[in-house]
Amino acid sequence: MSFAPAAQHIQESAALRALRADVRAFIREEIASGGFVPAVDCWLNSWDEAFSRRLAARGWLGMTIPVEYGGHGRTFLERFVVTEELLAAGAPLAAHWISDRQIGPSLMKFGSGEQRRKLLPGIATGEVFFAIGMSEPDSGSDLASVRTKAVKVDGGWHLTGSKIWTSGAHRSHWFIVLARSAPLDPEHRHAGLSQFIVALDSPGIDIRPIVSMNGHHHFNQVFFDNVFVPDAMLLGREGDGWKQVTSELSYERSGPERLLSTVAVLSEMASATQRGDLAPDPELGRTFARIMALHQMSVSVADALSSGRPTDQEAAIVKVLGTATEGDVAELASLSVATGQADDGLARLREMTATALLSRPGFTLRGGTNEILRGVIARGLGLR
Ligand SMILES: Cc1cc2nc3c(=O)[nH]c(=O)nc-3n(C[C@H](O)[C@H](O)[C@H](O)COP(=O)(O)OP(=O)(O)OC[C@H]3O[C@@H](n4cnc5c(N)ncnc54)[C@H](O)[C@@H]3O)c2cc1C
Repeated sequence: MSFAPAAQHIQESAALRALRADVRAFIREEIASGGFVPAVDCWLNSWDEAFSRRLAARGWLGMTIPVEYGGHGRTFLERFVVTEELLAAGAPLAAHWISDRQIGPSLMKFGSGEQRRKLLPGIATGEVFFAIGMSEPDSGSDLASVRTKAVKVDGGWHLTGSKIWTSGAHRSHWFIVLARSAPLDPEHRHAGLSQFIVALDSPGIDIRPIVSMNGHHHFNQVFFDNVFVPDAMLLGREGDGWKQVTSELSYERSGPERLLSTVAVLSEMASATQRGDLAPDPELGRTFARIMALHQMSVSVADALSSGRPTDQEAAIVKVLGTATEGDVAELASLSVATGQADDGLARLREMTATALLSRPGFTLRGGTNEILRGVIARGLGLR
């Protein structure tokens, strides 16, 4: 297990620096013109399809999708730079986040030619949105225990069961579902699972909202009652679902969204300090420094992933440390606004802090809990 020395990554290429500058200029214009208001947890909660399409018009969606499928054939590190800047600005990314982050790469890795031609162009134009259907009421960390069943029928499959905590399912077009396509064999629990691409307007689907304690509605429970999925919408190979799902986890766990969910709060604290509304606090600088160190680690994992090197443990470390830092930002902000007055210029910070505190429990759960990830790290160190 190793991270590349920081110095190796501090010098971004001139092309990446130019791209970063372009994204920053775009963000400044957007904020100035009221295109968006920086928000906490923007990649999960801030759904704005018009903004997604403005990004697409700049070529910043589907960046790593090949040109022949409507994408831009750019590198994973270029996408990293664009998403990092957008996340740091608290831009509304939720509509396209799942499609752009993982469905595009998954279709390139496991999808058929027909699936790629049908779905990838719309992902790159910001018109095709996906939700993820992995967790079930009794299956979260132990995903091999999923009970949603796929039964073979003429020309396709019938799916029956339910998925829970599905962010954005009520607004998405498609759903990528992990289902048991062969009976559970207790000796080989990871066998017999398959992935299906399911149209969310299919007959037999019932999407019910779950409202979070911060009042937001992004979660849903999705019920399937004999939902027909054509053979052409099996993703990858029948029975390979587990292998396919786990092969993508390092991408999902080590990205900048695992450290930047609350950075808009930190930026607001910095602005309030500059205005003189908050007393200078060395902890603010220390926290920015932590985020910069995590940035280096995240880039190091991204670099390893793009050269095909295994990085499960490193990705797990980034997620554990990154999501803990996101929570610590919420706490730091809450201490800094705790004793103010109503007219002290901190109303915006107070509002963002309240959202951050209520979102905090989710940071260390989504994408694999920190307890599970510590197990991954321990195994990597040969401790378990
Ligand atoms: C904000 C948010 C968005 C999400 N979006 C989606 C989504 O879009 N699609 C989707 O499918 N899912 C989504 N999830 C679900 C998420 O993946 C699960 O919550 C997560 O995998 C944990 O599963 P669980 O909730 O069933 O908890 P459980 O697995 O029941 O775990 C409960 C507790 O026990 C601990 N635990 C469990 N097993 C072990 C073990 N072996 N060793 C040590 N500790 C253990 C866990 O760490 C946790 O603290 C989302 C979750 C959140 C919070």
